[in-house]
Amino acid sequence: MYLILLGPPGTGKGTQAKLIAERLGLLHVSSGDLFREALQQGTELGRRAKASMDRGELVPDELTIAMIEERLQKPDAQQGVVFDGFPRTLKQAQALDEALARQGKAADTALLVTATDDEIVRRLSGRWLCPSCGEIYHEQSRPPARAGVCDACGATLAQRDDDKPEVVRERLRKQRPPEEMLAHYRAQGRLAEINGEQQMEAVTRDLLAAIEQAASGVRS
Ligand code: AMP
Repeated sequence: MYLILLGPPGTGKGTQAKLIAERLGLLHVSSGDLFREALQQGTELGRRAKASMDRGELVPDELTIAMIEERLQKPDAQQGVVFDGFPRTLKQAQALDEALARQGKAADTALLVTATDDEIVRRLSGRWLCPSCGEIYHEQSRPPARAGVCDACGATLAQRDDDKPEVVRERLRKQRPPEEMLAHYRAQGRLAEINGEQQMEAVTRDLLAAIEQAASGVRS
């Protein structure tokens, strides 16, 4: 099963993608995480992606597509993947279709998690990450037991530079899923829309229901 989670940044998409991957026994592939890893490791990919990431802009398609294609080749990606943060352009969506087709596979369904700009800014500016183990917290909806400290591993939490409010509005302007990409999935009857402003559990429930419907060939 190859699932695509779409939506603007800050809809809880990353948390949901991890949950769903775990629940369904699929690999979670986050393009943002892959870029951040590359940055940390100081690879050529990280160096080339850095300027776009610092500006809150998309990394060029060629670089992003090559990175995902490489990840798709690895053995742990063969049983199925939940894509998170990829694709973000029509070109990336088409490249993903082609890469999967070359492996005799197809992306099952694209799940669009929706939320208004104001709600996203509120959410993102309260988000804290654990730089050590990757856990995600939020000042309102998921505070850690001790402020600023990761519940899972005890490391000091950090805020991503691109989660600051002014950068968030800029990212939103540039990074809303483009209509032409949504149209690509909609035209093929492969797009399901989920209200991302609900409680996290309700979003998970709706996502799993949409996946089940898609798997059984019935779409709402
Ligand atoms: P994210 O964690 O998904 O918000 O991604 C962090 C940053 O990585 C984004 O602001 C982009 O600069 C870059 N990025 C992640 N995924 C993609 C993608 N599919 N296409 C282009 N750039 C991406």
